[in-house]
Amino acid sequence: MEKLSNIRARIVTVGRTLLGKGLVAGTWGNISARLPTSELIAITPSGRDYRTLKAEDIVIVSLDGVVVDGHLKPSSELPLHLAIYRARSDIRAVVHTHSIFASACAVARRAIPPIIEDLVQVTGGSVDVAEYALPGTEELALNAAKALNGKNALLLANHGVIGCGDSLEEAVTACELVEKAAQIYIYATQLGGAVVLDEKDVQIMHTFYKEHYRQRQK
Ligand code: 13P
Ligand code: ZN
Repeated sequence: MEKLSNIRARIVTVGRTLLGKGLVAGTWGNISARLPTSELIAITPSGRDYRTLKAEDIVIVSLDGVVVDGHLKPSSELPLHLAIYRARSDIRAVVHTHSIFASACAVARRAIPPIIEDLVQVTGGSVDVAEYALPGTEELALNAAKALNGKNALLLANHGVIGCGDSLEEAVTACELVEKAAQIYIYATQLGGAVVLDEKDVQIMHTFYKEHYRQRQK
């Protein structure tokens, strides 16, 4: 079973990766992962610089929101992370980014349709926009859990991206693929319009990913 200190260290590494890839700016965005028991999660603290974040700064919280270990305040988006874990036992990590092209779609309140292979494999279809609510609120958490709708990514209206997965690595990849698809969608729209994939093909690709391709990546 993976050690708690190891999960905390991996979350710190993911934070620096998000910053390095330009998916977050400053102290925004947040990262969480289930601990092996699934009853607790590890989450980034609120408002801390990724460049100086340390493993011991990662906060351990129960699924009902009680802090069980850590010396800092958990992310203000804790309600959103918890709502997703409660709704989906298959999700083991949640990453929230503020990346540019995906945020442009979120500001325009335009879902990213299922237009490109890697995105639909991981997310399972379109990336829908959750109804607007203020950051950090229970209302935003409810809206996000609803917009996820069995898939692995969503957009938060006028805010950013949520990517989920069965591992921290997969949740980061979901955020990267959403950003890439958003950029492609905007360019394709300028070229005259994106052709959306057939729903049957989307499901074939998503099933292939879950049953075969995901295992090859481990
Ligand atoms: P935290 O620093 O509290 O995690 O909040 C950042 C953010 O992106 C809020 O939506
Ligand atoms: Zn945010």
